[in-house]
Amino acid sequence: MSVGFTFSACSLFYIILLTAVFFSKKRLATLENKIYSLMIITNLVGIILALLSYFFIQVSDVLVITNAIISKSLIVYYLVYMVLFTSYIYVISNKINYDNLKEKSNIIKGYSLVSVILLMLILVLPLYYHHENNVVYSYGPSANLMYIVSGVCIFLWFIMMFKNYKEIKSKKYLPIFSFISIGTVVMIIQKFNPGILLVTSMETFITFLMYFTIENPDIKLIEELNLAKTQAEKANNAKTDFLSNMSHEIRTPLNAITGFSEALSEEKDLPERVREDVKDILMASDSLLEIVNGVLDISKIEANKLEIINKNYNPYKMFDSLVTLTKARIGEKPIELIVKIDETIPKVLYGDHTRVKQVILNILTNAAKYTDEGHIEFIVNSLIKGDVCRLIVSVEDTGIGIKRDKIDRLFNKFERLDEDHNTTIEGTGLGLAITKKLVQLMNGELVVQSVYGKGSKFTVSIDQKIAPNDIKLEDTLEVKKEDLALDYNIKDKSVLVVDDNKLNIKVATRLLEDYGISVDSCSSGFECLEKSKVIKYDLIFMDDMMPKMSGTETLHKLKEDPNFKTPVVVLTANAISGMEEKYLNEGFNSYLPKPIERKMLDAIVNKYLNKD
Ligand code: ADP
Repeated sequence: MSVGFTFSACSLFYIILLTAVFFSKKRLATLENKIYSLMIITNLVGIILALLSYFFIQVSDVLVITNAIISKSLIVYYLVYMVLFTSYIYVISNKINYDNLKEKSNIIKGYSLVSVILLMLILVLPLYYHHENNVVYSYGPSANLMYIVSGVCIFLWFIMMFKNYKEIKSKKYLPIFSFISIGTVVMIIQKFNPGILLVTSMETFITFLMYFTIENPDIKLIEELNLAKTQAEKANNAKTDFLSNMSHEIRTPLNAITGFSEALSEEKDLPERVREDVKDILMASDSLLEIVNGVLDISKIEANKLEIINKNYNPYKMFDSLVTLTKARIGEKPIELIVKIDETIPKVLYGDHTRVKQVILNILTNAAKYTDEGHIEFIVNSLIKGDVCRLIVSVEDTGIGIKRDKIDRLFNKFERLDEDHNTTIEGTGLGLAITKKLVQLMNGELVVQSVYGKGSKFTVSIDQKIAPNDIKLEDTLEVKKEDLALDYNIKDKSVLVVDDNKLNIKVATRLLEDYGISVDSCSSGFECLEKSKVIKYDLIFMDDMMPKMSGTETLHKLKEDPNFKTPVVVLTANAISGMEEKYLNEGFNSYLPKPIERKMLDAIVNKYLNKD
């Protein structure tokens, strides 16, 4: 038996294996894949023909016609394989797919016509057979034409590969280049030693290697998944950007609404009806702001952009503020708020107190919202282990309760339960979805127990690190009324408001004038730089998002002057969490989000203008 025959027999085994594996796998429906699958099938048929022709040439004198058919079919196989491989290289080097295939219809038609003519010639031209001492091969014009076709194809492959060097992904380039080189060498050997019969096996070898390097469906699916992942990430980022822009855009007019209503509500001789209306406008804008913040929070959480920012904080101050806020929320309702705070909780904890507060406030607000009478019990217990304090917060109410079968849907975003009962209660159905995600982010747990018609109990447990007692806590702007020492006797102080939006300037001016301060304004960073050279302001309120020169850039320019000592407060609608830290790191003295909250403004005026 010749070496060629042994190789062909082994190749048959490999190609059957490859066919089984390839076709049993889930594949992408790409043009490239389609051609490759045709190459596998063609190669399988080719190997069988090569083995058959080895036997039939030996008996060509007897079985003349059968031998002629099989040997010609083998030459036709060579042509088909070459045509397919050339198409494959053309497709990958020119990035052809099903979508842009039509644009190349002329090339495809011409290519098909040439292939058919060659097929005819191969069939028509004579083929002779040689068999002597196990050396078996066919030769003659038909075979010679095939050698010429192979030579031309190889030449075309090299041209396409070189011409489109950049188009072919680097990882495809090397394997294909080596396949073509192997193919060329074998083809030349075969030409000068026709009896060696290596071409078919070499083609199997190439088809086989292609599977492991560039045509493996798994690799292709992973590539496709990665692409889909990048696209999804891009879309998600676009969504987050859109939402943060939208929140910014909504905040600006909202700032005007709340600012003016706030100023109006402080007006003395207002008719009672107008006062009531103003109160309603303020409440409605508060809800709108809550929705904007909620949408922003949920989109940030979903885009994995919400960071937990840990700091040292005083938990007792936080609980106090929570109680004050809940009392305000309960308002006139006949509900008793029972508060039990475990006194063993350390004085200073380390964690994201803004988020912990948001979580607890959410469940306390819900208790106040969904309870008409009775009591709300706010209990905080602690479990201390080493340097970790587990805060166990439970909020129990005697409210409307939640149906057992609805509890699972409680944490779905935009889902509100028992719509018949709570249509009059404002809400978006985002609160608990955010709460749950925040608790998860802080590695905590949230448990709900409820009896419909009787009441509910929400329990949250979150671990916080224990910080040393004597640590100095950062000054926060969260103020209680009694902390304010405003005497409104600050008439000699001057303040500058920088904002490119006229309405925003009007609101800030209106609110600041209530303190009796003289308020100056300008609408760009450049003007601010000019003005501060001439006038020594006591405080500057600076918008950040301004065209040409942002508030941050203006601040940096102001600080270039070593004598510049005026505190600068960033006044911004960019109120996504984490922004405060960003602005303080940039060098701003304080951060005041829009819409301006009177209490925060009070605190800022008190801190920077009420000193001497
Ligand atoms: P929202 O209060 O804005 O509607 P939440 O996500 O905070 O949204 O709550 C989702 C739903 O869960 C509410 O609409 C309400 O039906 C129900 N719910 C939440 N807390 C309570 C509670 N303490 N008592 C009764 N029902 C509640």
